[in-house]
Amino acid sequence: MVYPLQHKPFWMTTDLKMLRYSAHLPLSGIGAAGQQHIRDAHVVLIGVGGLGCASAQYLVSSGIGKLTLCDFDTVAESNLSRQILYRTTDVGRVKVEAAIESLQALNPESELRSVTRRMRDVDMQALFPDCDLVIDASDNYGTRLAVNRNCLALKVPWVMASCIRMEGQIMFLRPDLPQQPCYRCAYGKAPDTLEDCPGAGIFAPVAGIAGASAAHFALAHLAGLQVPAGLHLFDASNWQWQSLRINKHPHCKDCGPGMGPG
Ligand SMILES: [Zn+2]
Repeated sequence: MVYPLQHKPFWMTTDLKMLRYSAHLPLSGIGAAGQQHIRDAHVVLIGVGGLGCASAQYLVSSGIGKLTLCDFDTVAESNLSRQILYRTTDVGRVKVEAAIESLQALNPESELRSVTRRMRDVDMQALFPDCDLVIDASDNYGTRLAVNRNCLALKVPWVMASCIRMEGQIMFLRPDLPQQPCYRCAYGKAPDTLEDCPGAGIFAPVAGIAGASAAHFALAHLAGLQVPAGLHLFDASNWQWQSLRINKHPHCKDCGPGMGPG
C-alpha cells in the first residue's frame, strides 16, 4: 500500500528509538526533526516544588536530552499535595535527589543532573552558557531577577512560571532576540519576596497547570514551534485566561540602554 507522506504510520517514517515519543511525530511543526531537537536540548530548571515537579515530569516524559534540577530544599509532608514527584517515604530527603529517582524511572533516556544549593549569580553564570533554555519555577523574587539578569547577559531564552491561590502566570522571555522586553520590563518595581504558597494557599492542580504550561512553552520552543509572546495569566476560580502584551521599557534597569543585548 502506498501512503501519502503525511498519513504514513509512525513506524514507517522514523526509527524505533522514537517509539516512546511517537505521539509527537504526527504533530504539525514537530515531527521527527522537532523531537530530535528536544532530545538534543539541555534545560535548566530552577525550583523543584509544585511548578517544577510538573514541568520536570513533562520535560522528561517528552524526551528532553538533559535536565539540570536546581533546589536546595528537602521534602516536607506539606509539599506532597502538589509536588507530585515525591512520595510519603521521601519526606526529609533532598528534593532534587528524590526528583531524579522518580524522573529516571519515568524515562531513563534523559540525562539528569542536580544542583543542591541556592542559585547565585556565579552558579547561573557557570550553568547557563551550557543550556538551551532556563525555566524559573522558584518562589522568590531575588532568584527570578537574578535569572533575568543572567539570561539577559548570556542571551538565553527562559520561561517564567508562578502560581498562588487559584492563579498562575507564565511568560516566555527571549533575550536572545533584539528589542524584547525582559522580566523587569513586565513587573517593574516589585517586593523583594513573593507571597509564599503555605501562607497564601495554593490549590494543588493550579501548580500543575502552571508547571505543565511552562513545560509546554519550553518543549514547543525547543521543537521549533512559535511560542506566544506576552504575559499569560489564568484564574482558575472562574477558569479565565488572559494574555497581556508586554512592551520593552525604554529605561529598564536590567535591559535598558547599555545594560542588555539591546
Ligand atoms: Zn527590561
